[in-house]
Amino acid sequence: MNNRINYIETNSPEETFAVGKKLGQTAKPGEIYTLNGDLGVGKTVFTQGVAAGIGIKEHVNSPTFTIVQVYENGRLPFYHFDVYRIGDIEEMDEIGFEDYFYGDGLCIIEWAERIKELVPAEAKQITIEKNLEKGFDYRKICIQE
Ligand code: ADP
Ligand code: MG
Repeated sequence: MNNRINYIETNSPEETFAVGKKLGQTAKPGEIYTLNGDLGVGKTVFTQGVAAGIGIKEHVNSPTFTIVQVYENGRLPFYHFDVYRIGDIEEMDEIGFEDYFYGDGLCIIEWAERIKELVPAEAKQITIEKNLEKGFDYRKICIQE
């Protein structure tokens, strides 16, 4: 991993899904991907693509009442965090986040900036942005290499 940033532009949810899927197909045990970007930008769509790339058959949605949702039936364990509603960083301790962050699965963390003090430096940073001048469905997906 280095600090080079690649970016990909998409113009539909399907394209964003496909970018995530490609990444999921090459994901390795123990990796962490952080996902940042405004509400409705496509973090969950991207995550659904990653899950498909790992071979997860269940429908993946943002966990609403839990911080993390675990999927075990893919090529790797998949730990989907959405920390949007986290009130106190201690909630991460309560769910035993270290078992996931330092385990053998792939972690994806939506809204990772909210817990940045806990995210290992090696995590792959992914940011999604809109640009309304380029159309309502335009997204720029920046991925750290
Ligand atoms: P987030 O998890 O970032 O809050 P979601 O993935 O839940 O966002 O929702 C993204 C919304 O944006 C969906 O309704 C999706 O259909 C729409 N959308 C439109 N264009 C795109 C695009 N290029 N990539 C991803 N989502 C898009
Ligand atoms: Mg989401």
